[in-house]
Amino acid sequence: MYDSIRGTKDILPEESKKWEFLERTIREVARLYNVQEIRIPTFERTELFYKSTGEDTDIVQKEMYTFTDKGGRSLTLKPEGTPGVVRAFLQYSLHKKRPFHKLFYIERMFRQERPQKGRYREFYQFGVEIIGSASPLVDVELISMVMNILERLGIKGTYVRVNSLGCDKCRPDYRKALKEYLKGKLPLLCENCRRRYETNPLRILDCKVDAEKLTDAPRMIDFLCDECKEHHRIVIDTLKSLNIPFKEDSTLVRGLDYYTRTVFEFIHPSLGAQDSIGGGGRYDTLIKSMGGPDIPAAGFAMGMERMLLAMGDREIEEEKPVVFFVALGDDAKRLSFNLLEGMRKAGVKADMDYIGRSMKAQMREANRLGAVFTYIIGEDEIKKGIGILKNMDTGEQMNVPMDVEEIKRRIS
Ligand code: AMP
Repeated sequence: MYDSIRGTKDILPEESKKWEFLERTIREVARLYNVQEIRIPTFERTELFYKSTGEDTDIVQKEMYTFTDKGGRSLTLKPEGTPGVVRAFLQYSLHKKRPFHKLFYIERMFRQERPQKGRYREFYQFGVEIIGSASPLVDVELISMVMNILERLGIKGTYVRVNSLGCDKCRPDYRKALKEYLKGKLPLLCENCRRRYETNPLRILDCKVDAEKLTDAPRMIDFLCDECKEHHRIVIDTLKSLNIPFKEDSTLVRGLDYYTRTVFEFIHPSLGAQDSIGGGGRYDTLIKSMGGPDIPAAGFAMGMERMLLAMGDREIEEEKPVVFFVALGDDAKRLSFNLLEGMRKAGVKADMDYIGRSMKAQMREANRLGAVFTYIIGEDEIKKGIGILKNMDTGEQMNVPMDVEEIKRRIS
């Protein structure tokens, strides 16, 4: 007997109903927003993540599943979706086909983090990337799409943290001011933060350990250039006009290196320590930095396990079989099997017993499954070529010839 690897998870049938509902809801909303699906490989060149996710991020520093394949190449199981999507976008020159693209993915991600509730080593993300527009309305469309999905899933109480990280023009000034401020505090900060002081001082602001010591730090929002300020103003005004619950939060910097201007995170307070169900932002310079043309983009990724946790024990209705064939003896089973296949070809959900249950036990099974009708074939029925169709709700029975069309007519 073997156990699954720590941090991985089996999704058993009871739970897979919820997954199916979640994926269906995502696809429905993606359709409403005119977003098309993209599927990307499970592993990529390790280098891709160094270049895009960023060398100084927790993901790249500590969490990647990296291995050398037999050809001696360093490969990595994807820890997030954006690098692969952008790689595919550039590889197939999608920008030459059309100037504007809206893409979504539902993919497995891999990160070697310490497993706990809501944190796994293999998990699913649903993500959207909108490539080709610098409009602040795109940022709001991304947020609104998520809120729409959460509402359909019955997840209440989520709010959005929003911040702007500025751009290449205004961020250097802020960085300078922040470093100036942090200089005196360095001895108080954790080892990680001290290292980041040189490489990525903004990340110190969302350090889980030290953030509380830094409440009077200078805020990016006060350093934004005119264009970034206007972009941010439109995002905030539009969120307000759509009644989307949000909080402006100057400490939100997100864990990845590539963000510019708008960043956001979806918080569901009931999830405790892992209360972020997703997040994203604008990444106007990433595509260029990956060797592509200068194309602005924005996106988000949602943790699907966390969305399910936030849904709680909401029951998902399963489609019941319409007919359960109840048959005793080999001949009756064979007849049932033919009719059963006919029903399925006609698009009717149907099933029968395969484990030699008694007639009574077969009726019980039909009940357990919630079958709407049973079609019963015993010895007498075989002789007459006529079975008994029983309405499981009313108990009403009628004789119906052993013919798919006849049965179909009576059950519709
Ligand atoms: P990130 O790509 O780090 O911004 O994560 C986006 C979302 O993915 C998070 O808000 C979580 O909901 C989810 N997520 C990230 N890491 C994990 C993990 N190890 N296990 C489960 N969900 C995760």
